[in-house]
Order: sequence, then C-alpha cells, then structure tokens
Amino acid sequence: MNKKYELIYEGKAKKVFSHDDSDKVIIEFKDDATAFNALKKAKFEGKGKLNCLISARIFEHLKKKNIPTHFLRLKNENTMIAKKIKVIPLEIVLRNIAYGSLCKQTTIKPRTVLAKPLIDIYLKNDELNDPLITRDRIELMKILSSKDLDLIIDLTLKINSILKNFFKKIQLQLVDFKLEFGYDFKNNILLADEISPDNCRLWDLQQKNDMIISLDKDRFRNDLGGLIEAYSEINRRINNFI
Ligand code: UDP
Repeated sequence: MNKKYELIYEGKAKKVFSHDDSDKVIIEFKDDATAFNALKKAKFEGKGKLNCLISARIFEHLKKKNIPTHFLRLKNENTMIAKKIKVIPLEIVLRNIAYGSLCKQTTIKPRTVLAKPLIDIYLKNDELNDPLITRDRIELMKILSSKDLDLIIDLTLKINSILKNFFKKIQLQLVDFKLEFGYDFKNNILLADEISPDNCRLWDLQQKNDMIISLDKDRFRNDLGGLIEAYSEINRRINNFI
C-alpha cells in the first residue's frame, strides 16, 4: 500500500487505510487466517485476493437488491474502497442449518434444517471472547436502540433470502453466516465488513452422497486442507454466474 495512506485499523483478516476523501476508506484483505478467537493462526497465499473479489461481487449483488452496503468499488484484486463507517460492535450470525457452535452449546444435532432462520447476536469483543448477547444487554450497554436493532435483524433476514437464492444458483448451500453493520456519517445503517467463505458456511450441492463438502473456513478450522482450492472454486462459480 502507498505510504501516503495512513493505517487506521488492523484486524485479523484486513487492514483499513485512510482515503483522500474523508468519508471513504481503503480496505486491504490479508492472507492471514485465524480461528477460535485467534488461538489458531495460519497464512494462505492468495486468500486475501479471493475474499476481496468474492466480497465485492456479493456486495454488488446485494446493492442491486437495495441492501445498503459500505462497498463502493474494487481498487485492485485485494483492496476495495468503502464508505467510512462507525462499526457497531456486534456480530450478527444467521443460521439456516445447525452446525458449529450452535451444536456445541445446545442439544441440537448438526445438520438439522431449522424451521426458520435463527439469529444469534455476539458482542464483538476479543478480550471477552465474543460472548453471545441478549437484546436486553444490548440496550443496557446502549450499543443500539431497540428500533435500530430491529432494523439490523430485518436487513439480516433479507440478506439471507437474497444470498440463499444466489448461492443455490451456483450449487452452494448457505448454512450460516456472520454480518457486521455500521453507521455512515449521515447515521444510516450499512452492511459492512466482508461476505466471503471466511464468514459464511457454504456446502457443495454438487456432492452426490451424504458427505459434507465444506467450501469455507471449516477447511482450516477442522484441518481439512484445500482452503485455497475451495475459495477459488467459489470465486470461479460466482464469475461464471454473473
Ligand atoms: N463466524 C465468523 N466470525 C466469528 C464467529 C463465527 O465469521 O468470529 C461465522 C462462521 O464462519 C460461521 C457462522 O459465523 O459461518 C457461525 O459460526 P459459529 O457460531 O458456528 O462458530 P464456530 O463454529 O466458527 O465456532
């Protein structure tokens, strides 16, 4: 990245730089992968580029369906220009099928198809290990008004309908995903962060037998190997479809 841009924030998978326009930022996607609150770490050459390209295509698709997002344009293969936002410190997880932490924390069996989408909200706080949080606690901490929380939940459900359809067309099952939102300088709520195989569970529907073929970060979490091959396959299917 050109030196004139100031690094504003560095997260586990992305760096955020200032932009000449004060209402924009430059987001660089890194090759680093972390899991289990960064207890497990690795680097995958090319992951940043793939997640940036996949996210950009998905944000463009959501924009066409009138979902407000922070995405403005790609700058190059691993950087995008986005609207500057104030991050809301919540991770909104939507689940269509039970898997991962839901099955570790409840008696629900993995692969149970949920009768309606389940929304789990976590506090974005590494020191506290991103705990599951309640609506009342969100209000108590003054993170969001009840009205804005309703708006975010409504947006998440709409995004799920759009993405479920989108992925089905490219033979992928959207199991679950995590979203983050923020406020722009006019106080509008925008979808932020990224939408990629790092924060979505995507299963291959081209698989004929009963085995799960994960084309997402579970390849790293569960030491399945072939992460770059899986992310490249998603990028390839999206590009063939759009
Ligand atoms: N997720 C994420 N960041 C997190 C936790 C979860 O992007 O810090 C995503 C994850 O990729 C999956 C969904 O949210 O698509 C649900 O994850 P889950 O709660 O099952 O957690 P995990 O199994 O990763 O511990």
